[in-house]
Order: sequence, then C-alpha cells, then structure tokens
Amino acid sequence: MKGLSPWLNGQSIWLRTKRLQVRLLSGTQIKIMLQIDASIEALPKVGPVFAKRFKQLGIETVKDLLWHFPQRYEDFSVILPIAKAKLNQKACFCGKITAIETNRTWKKKILLTEAVLQDKTSAIKIVWYNQPYLSRSLKENDEICVAGKVAFDKNGLYLASPTYEKIFASENLTHTGRIIPIYPEIRGVSSRYLRFLIKIALQEIPPLQEAIPQNISKKENFLEINQAIRQIHFPDSFEKLSRAKERFSFENIFLIELAVLKQKLKVQKQKAPNIPLNVEVIKELVAKLPFNLTDSQRKCVWQIAKDLEKPRPMSRLLEGDVGSGKTVVAVLAMLCCVKAGFQAAFMAPTEILAQQHFNEVSKLLQPFKIKIALLTGKKDKIISQKLGYKTAKGFAPETMEISRAKILEKTLNKEIDLLIGTHALIQDKVKFGNLALVVVDEQHRFGVKQRAHLIQKSKGAKQVVLIPHFLSMTATPIPRTLALTLYGDLDLSLLDELPKGRKKIITQVVPSNQRQSTYDFIAKEIKNEHQVFVICPRIEKPEEQTENKGSWDEVKAVEEEYEKLSKKIFPKFRVKMLHGKMKSNEKEKIMKDFKNQKADILVATSVVEVGLDIPNATVMMIEGSDRFGLAQLHQFRGRVGRAKKQSYCFLLTDSKSLKTRSRLKAMLSAKNGFELAQKDLEIRGPGCLAGIKQWGIPDITMDALKNLKLVEKTRELAKQTLIESPCLAKYPFLQKGVEKFEKIVHLE
Ligand code: ADP
Ligand code: MG
Repeated sequence: MKGLSPWLNGQSIWLRTKRLQVRLLSGTQIKIMLQIDASIEALPKVGPVFAKRFKQLGIETVKDLLWHFPQRYEDFSVILPIAKAKLNQKACFCGKITAIETNRTWKKKILLTEAVLQDKTSAIKIVWYNQPYLSRSLKENDEICVAGKVAFDKNGLYLASPTYEKIFASENLTHTGRIIPIYPEIRGVSSRYLRFLIKIALQEIPPLQEAIPQNISKKENFLEINQAIRQIHFPDSFEKLSRAKERFSFENIFLIELAVLKQKLKVQKQKAPNIPLNVEVIKELVAKLPFNLTDSQRKCVWQIAKDLEKPRPMSRLLEGDVGSGKTVVAVLAMLCCVKAGFQAAFMAPTEILAQQHFNEVSKLLQPFKIKIALLTGKKDKIISQKLGYKTAKGFAPETMEISRAKILEKTLNKEIDLLIGTHALIQDKVKFGNLALVVVDEQHRFGVKQRAHLIQKSKGAKQVVLIPHFLSMTATPIPRTLALTLYGDLDLSLLDELPKGRKKIITQVVPSNQRQSTYDFIAKEIKNEHQVFVICPRIEKPEEQTENKGSWDEVKAVEEEYEKLSKKIFPKFRVKMLHGKMKSNEKEKIMKDFKNQKADILVATSVVEVGLDIPNATVMMIEGSDRFGLAQLHQFRGRVGRAKKQSYCFLLTDSKSLKTRSRLKAMLSAKNGFELAQKDLEIRGPGCLAGIKQWGIPDITMDALKNLKLVEKTRELAKQTLIESPCLAKYPFLQKGVEKFEKIVHLE
C-alpha cells in the first residue's frame, strides 16, 4: 500500500496513486478510476506519438481532453426508416449490411468500398472512398448505424462516405444516432478519435468536484458539473446542451470576474506616492494652451487628479475616440506628478509616436522647466536619446543628444523628471529614482506582463514599497461587456466629446476599379496644399503587426505602392514612404518632413495607425480596407480631420461580398468608435480586438463575452462571493480554479 493515500467517501474507500484512483467497493468489487490530472497517455491507445499530437491542441492531461469542447454539433438524433430517405437530406439510418466489397477503380487508383444497408423498410447503397480498413472492420450481417448526406446517381439514392458505427446492445451510440459533437481537429486527431477517447474518459473518471458555489448553482438552476461535462460532449437534447454551455460560460466568466476583482482589491491595499492636487499648476498650463479644454477633458483631468491624491495606486483607463485630446490630459497629470517632486514615465507603442510625444510634450511643458528625456531602442542597440532640458538652472530650450548610459544614470538619480519612450522603458537596466506615475499610450500594444514589470521598478530599496499610479490610454473603444470583465479591475474615464469645430470626416467605400476617381480627388486636395495618407493592405495577423515585426512582404507592398504613386500616378507631387523596417532616424526624418509639409503623400503601413498627429492631412486612402477590423479603420481615419479642415476617408476594396461591403458601410453610419467596436465584437468576436487573442481565453468564454446580461449578472455574483469570502477560503475548489485561471490568462 506504499504510495497510496486512502480516503473514505460514503460507502466506498478510495485509494489514490499518481495516475489512478482505485475505489474499493464493499465486497470484492474493485473499480479502477482514471485520475483527472493523469497524463493523456493513461488512456487506452494513446502513446507518445498521439501525446505529441494532442500537445499541439493544448491537451496534456485527461482534464484538458475533457475540456476540449466541441466546436459545433450535427443533429443525427432521429433514426429514419430507409424508405423515407430523400435527396440532400442529412440523415441517420440503422440496419444490417447485406453486401459489402472493396475494389480499386480502374481509372484512378481510388479504393472504393460499396455496401448495401437494409432495414425493415428498404435498402440503400453506401459508398466510401479510400478507407481500406473498412473491409476488415465491417462484414456482411453486421448491424450498423450510418449518418451522412443522401446523394443521387444513375442507380438511385445512396450515401456517400457517411459516418458509421457498429451497434452493440450494451452500448449507447457515439458517432451516429444522436447529436454528434464535432471538435476542433488537427491532422491525425479526428473528431471520431476524440469522441472515442472522451467517451472512455467520461466513463472512467471519478466524480468531478463542483467549483460554482452551491447557492449560486441552485439559484441559477445550473446543470451540475458531472452532468454538464457529459452533456457538452454527448448532449441528450439541444435544451440540455444549451444548459451545459450556459454553465461553462458562467463558470469561465465567473473566474475572470473573481480574478479581476481580487486583483482590484489587492491593488487597493497597496501604497502609492501621494501627489497633492495642485490647482495652480493645472490652471497655469491650461491658460497657456492654444485652445480651451473640452468639458470631457476637464472631467477626466479631475478624476485623475483625485486618484493621484489617494494613498493607493490609481489603475485608470482613459478611453477617448481618436482626436479627442488624450495627450493633454496625460500631460496635466504628469505635470502635477513632477511638480510634487516625483518622476513620471510616458510609454508609446512605436518609436514614431514616442518621438512625437517627446516633441509635443516638450513644447507644452517648456515654461515649466522640466527635464524631459526620450529613450528608445531596438534590442540593445541605441537609436536615439535626447534630453529636453539640461538642468533646472541652466535652461536649454534646444534638445541635446546624450548617451544612453547618461540617461539611465540621470533617471536613477532623479535628474530626469519625465522619461518618454517605447518598450525601451521597461528594460531591466532602466531604474527610476522615485517613479510615481506611469502613462501608457494605446495600451493594447503592451503586454500585461510588461506593464507588471514597469510597476515593479519603483520598489527600490526603500522600506515602504510604493507602487506608481497607472494610467493607460486607448482610442480602441472597449465594448461594455469587456470593460466589465477583462478590464474590470480598471477605473474608466471617458473622453466622450471631440474638441469643438471638428468636421465629420466624409467616408466612402470605393471599389478598386474606381480608384482613378480617388486619385483625381487627391490631386485636387494637394493643389489646395493639403496632405494625404495612403495605407497599404495588411499582410500579417493583427497582433504581429507591431513596428518591430513588420514583415518583408509588407515592406514590399509599401515599396511597390510608393513606386507606382511617385512615378506613374503623381510624378509631380512629393511622395514619401514609411514602414516599420526603416531605421529609426530615417522614420523620424520622414515624419518630421511630412509634418513640416515637405511631402504631399505618405505611403505607409499600419505604423501610422495609432496616435500620429498631422493636422494638415485631409485625405486617408486605405487599400484593401476589408482586411482590417472596423476599430482599426476608425483609427486610420482618425489620422485626418484633426484640424478644422474638411477631411475625407476612402476605403478601397476588391471584395464583391455583400457582407464585407455592408461591414465597411458601418464606417459611414457609425457615430463613434464605440459603435464600431460593438459591431466588430458582434461580427468578428472579442478576439478581433487588439491584444485580446494572446490572452489565451477559451472560445466558449469569448462567445459568452458578447452577452451583456450574463456578464452583468456574473459580475454581481462575483462581488457578492468576494464579500462573503474575500480570499475564497470558503470555496477552496473555486479558489484553485481562479489561481489556475490566473496562470493561463494574464490579467494585470
Ligand atoms: P488623441 O486623443 O487621439 O491622442 P491628441 O491628444 O493627439 O488626440 O489630440 C489631437 C489634437 O487635438 C492635437 O493636435 C491637440 O493639440 C488637439 N487638441 C487637444 N485638445 C483640444 C481641445 N480641447 N480643443 C482643440 N484642440 C485640442
Ligand atoms: Mg494619442
């Protein structure tokens, strides 16, 4: 009995080893149970080869297998009499094989297995292609069930390659005669094989423990876990299936809510530097701005300033449509922080944007004699570092370049007040003296882990660990369901109004073959001294579309477009090109030239997607626009219409599909980015929103994330549960679930 740990459960004694659980029933009966955490290889017919294939599907244990849920289901639950077979009908028939033979077709080398299935009412021919093992496994007089589509040839109705299974009196049907689960498959792991294994696993495992607290489960009338896991794979009815799905959706969202709310409680217990509200300094900067703040901007500045006063770290998301003026809100917060004697960090997703922020912020803060530095870099290579204002005494309005080492030194000994940069800011070498506020622009571009990394920077050697305040900004509107779940730990500030005087951007969907009209229009705009963006279609997946990873194909596309526009279409105009693979100083120069109106047209990749501010640009032409999400197109469009001039956006598309056209048309009617993000969510699912895909959230949860009612209810229940048991000590199994979830899905 060494290595076995016995425990009692009702009438039986349980023994557990590493892979198996043994249940000793009263008397001599012994039933060997499969441990839920056992390796997938504990299942029959799974060896190292299959284990490797399963790994590709993310399946390593029996539990992983059981949680590999079907993608869809086919309804073969009604067994029809063969006499009732109809052409094109998807149906299931049961009967006896009266004849079967396999031959090679003489023309092609295809193996053809033909059989005749007979039931009490009639007979039908069945044909299978290239399945040599069939002749071994199916014989005359076998009772079988088949499920498939009824086809027709010169000899009448027949079934082509139906799913089949032999009927045994002692067993329920698995592949036919029921609602059949179809799984996400890969080569070598078919749905049939998955059904076979999952069925065994479901028979062999001991009862699963319920994670959802009993009171909730009862009140919501959820299927209990052991029923739910069986119904999700082998549903008795669509009603039961929908209840099983409901239960798992709830559980997953519940885990997200608990994880997020726990995180929020944890942050609230931490200490942060106290930044007193300095109305004078805010007024001073506001008075110097060339415009009046909008009411929304005032409200957001106020919310942030209030947060900074509190002794616990702010975690706030500033959400505002493109052009709503987020930067100045952040600058006001950073100024308060610096004036209180602390440092602030401002991170941007791309070098271009970091450079732009550096220029703008330096200009805005010039009267305040603040030391501002720019730190960017690719890997370990230094690209450029600039220090804004040398010292508080020796005021130097010109920027100067200093070495990276010097910047690091000055950041550590607090000689730099405000450090602006890209990912370079979160490298290990960058240490702050007294960092109190971190602003992250276009936060979806930053991984949660990276942000956590930056937060740790301030711990330093001091005895009291102070966590900086954290403000992220985004123009990608987050639909309400996501704001309540995935971003539920953040407080939200909304910039829901644009500065006065902005004109609506006139938007048109243009079929590619009518491109010339757009070119004519562009020529007119340029003659009026306006500038134009041309965006090349995307070639990569969205999450890889960062500046540093731009693919060479993409570069090629930009280069070709550039050649075409500069040589053939607009030889008289000044055309420039911008893409992620260019050297940083090259990019910088091009941006500067474009901003200073030394170029008329900028051909670019999605590098220009976020944040770029060129008020004189009035036309945004997007090639292959159907390949982008609506929220992303909205971002592109936000590059124009930033001043009072009438601006235009042309969405070029090759697609003839009505669905695509109507999706693009949403760009014409939607009032704001929120509406577009909601449409993206409905049409393409939450995965389409930048950054979310790599969080590793299961599909069933992604689907449930569209359901506002469910999300709202779940959040309420999660809150109640945490009030009742803040560390979930009362629900150890649920606590384990949340911990596991936190490991798979990285919420900050
Ligand atoms: P985003 O929210 O997209 O980051 P920015 O902060 O880049 O927007 O601001 C866009 C432009 O609007 C900038 O040129 C900025 O100076 C200007 N701006 C910001 N606030 C106002 C305002 N209240 N009135 C007029 N212009 C403003
Ligand atoms: Mg911005």
